[in-house]
Amino acid sequence: MKIIDISLPLNNQTPIYPENVPLSVSMHHAMPKYSTQLSAITFGSHTGTHIDAPAHCLVGGLTLDQIPLETLIGPCRVLDFSQNQSECVTQEMLQSKNVKKGERVLLKTKNSIRGFKEFYKDFVYLDGDGADYLAGLGVLLVGIDSLSIKKSGGPDSRPHTALLSKNIPIIEGLNMSTVIEGEYKLICLPLNFTGIEGAPARAVLIER
Ligand SMILES: [Zn+2]
Repeated sequence: MKIIDISLPLNNQTPIYPENVPLSVSMHHAMPKYSTQLSAITFGSHTGTHIDAPAHCLVGGLTLDQIPLETLIGPCRVLDFSQNQSECVTQEMLQSKNVKKGERVLLKTKNSIRGFKEFYKDFVYLDGDGADYLAGLGVLLVGIDSLSIKKSGGPDSRPHTALLSKNIPIIEGLNMSTVIEGEYKLICLPLNFTGIEGAPARAVLIER
């Protein structure tokens, strides 16, 4: 069984979306005085690879702990748009991949080729019509290799609202640099925070 880790490493160098809470990892207790080592960590709920739950954009929307784990684990398909030079993933590009109702789809773009050493403002995003299209199809989950699924500073909120209003969770901050297009099993488990709108997650693909 081959497992591909598609989550970003978390440390003091991890790029953070502008104006989000900084990620800080430091030593709280150090050996030998305490005989154990213990770290102090502070971070925002949308740090690194993370889940957006409906409550992220919708008042009264489902919180992270209300997303069924059955949604976050199961067959998925990686759609490779990394050779496309478009600044966003569009409905037309998605239609070319024949996406179907009930699929979990992960969008690989040139973000994964450029890498994740720093935050790049011109990241590839999903456009509003593309989000409406996926929501209308009734996909189960959408993932993307950028820290936000919507254009940086863009006025069109549909990439969040169209999906989250249909209770379609979003995984942001995936690293699919080593992943080729095709079918996998996805396991994406966020930390078990209750009552909030998102949390970092470990996401892996298992080759089928
Ligand atoms: Zn987010």
